[in-house]
Amino acid sequence: MANDANMAAQGERTFGGASADTMLIRVGRGVGSGLIVGGHLVHGSGFAAGEIGHVVVGTDGGADCACGKAGCLETWLASPRLEAHLADAADDASRVAVLREAGERLGIALGPVVAALNLGEVILAGPHDLLAGDLLEATAETLRSRTMGELHGDLSLRMTALGRDIVVLGAVVTVLTGQAGIS
Ligand SMILES: [Zn+2]
Repeated sequence: MANDANMAAQGERTFGGASADTMLIRVGRGVGSGLIVGGHLVHGSGFAAGEIGHVVVGTDGGADCACGKAGCLETWLASPRLEAHLADAADDASRVAVLREAGERLGIALGPVVAALNLGEVILAGPHDLLAGDLLEATAETLRSRTMGELHGDLSLRMTALGRDIVVLGAVVTVLTGQAGIS
């Protein structure tokens, strides 16, 4: 049942120095996340914990999503969508605006989760050229303005340092620990 984002979260916890209360957001063709609370991977009642890609972000509409809804987190943040929006951007300023909009939407989606679970860390994994920089900054600003947590005090937000091997590393941990959450 383990998905890539869960494995990436395991990898980050074991090899990337992630804290015991961490959410890892994995951005690629879609958007998923792995959630570690109290040092344990959270599976959820239907083994779908962390599936935030098809949560609608905001009440102002948005682009149509493959799932039938409009304005899902994926429509703002998934790599193909972001790349398409960037390709349409006329200049640097509109490029930055696209990245900031995606970062803000991610921050809006994360706020309640970060607050409810008092997470210590949020880690982004995915294309560095898209996520690091303007997008990550906008996510940080949005989280700061919408939650009580002090960024870099109670909460840190960063890119993974593990690179593309993160899922493989996590899969190794998952196999070695029997996927039962013994870690
Ligand atoms: Zn959707």
